[in-house]
Amino acid sequence: MMRWIKRPKVAFFSFTSCEGCQLMVLNCEEELRELSQRVDVVNFREAMDIKRDDYQIAFIEGSITRQEEIEKLREIRGRAETVITLGACSTTGGINALKNCFSTDYIRELVYGRNPPNLKLVENIPATPVDELIEVDYHIPGCPISKEEFLGFVKALALGIPPRLPDYPVCNECKMEGNICVFEKGMTCMGPVTRGGCRAVCVSFGSLCWGCRGLLENANTDAHRQTLRDHGLEDSEITRRFDLYNSFYIHRKKQCTGTTT
Ligand code: SF4
Ligand code: SF4
Ligand code: SF4
Repeated sequence: MMRWIKRPKVAFFSFTSCEGCQLMVLNCEEELRELSQRVDVVNFREAMDIKRDDYQIAFIEGSITRQEEIEKLREIRGRAETVITLGACSTTGGINALKNCFSTDYIRELVYGRNPPNLKLVENIPATPVDELIEVDYHIPGCPISKEEFLGFVKALALGIPPRLPDYPVCNECKMEGNICVFEKGMTCMGPVTRGGCRAVCVSFGSLCWGCRGLLENANTDAHRQTLRDHGLEDSEITRRFDLYNSFYIHRKKQCTGTTT
């Protein structure tokens, strides 16, 4: 249950990620002044030196890939009244979760080549979304997050109103942006099964939706697989499209088909 707190204390934490979502927060240049009046940021390594642990709201970026991170995560949950995931990595496992389908040796070779440096590997675990390990109050999806959505969340939280995510697909906003559907141009797209809220930015800028905001609840994935098939995609490519941002949940209960060494 949310309660109204005058100028709540906010902290940002980062686990395994590219830190691009925190960068999106810093990109709110014009809004930062107003933001700092609404909330008191007490911990944000990417932006400031001061670190305090008296936060009420914690934003968590990144998936959990190391045993030692779990303890830190529980510590954050123990201190914060409200925990919010920030971006695809922490919300669904994101691209990081693709590694779960392959052996560590295979991944190391992909990254460092056939003669990798003598790396001292820390104990790693499958890349895991935050809410598999602690209770999460809200999620902000996207790779990276939408600046507008983040600001909307902060405003709602500062007013004590529970923030809500859109429950319609990317296609709705794509139409409102006046885009010609990429299916009409001989391309394919994950928009019909992906949660909206990004204003279909990738399509608007000439690309297609890769599904970074995660699968919409109750999305008809079987129908979309058939649509992709009808538009010429092989089943292996269709699997790759779905896996890109959803592999943690898709493969949790199934045998992963990734190539391993
Ligand atoms: S969700 Fe994407 S942009 Fe955000 S931290 Fe993860 S990889 Fe980076
Ligand atoms: S381009 Fe993609 S997101 Fe836009 S309407 Fe077509 S399928 Fe939907
Ligand atoms: S259009 Fe698709 S890939 Fe692009 S930001 Fe939106 S959900 Fe992510």
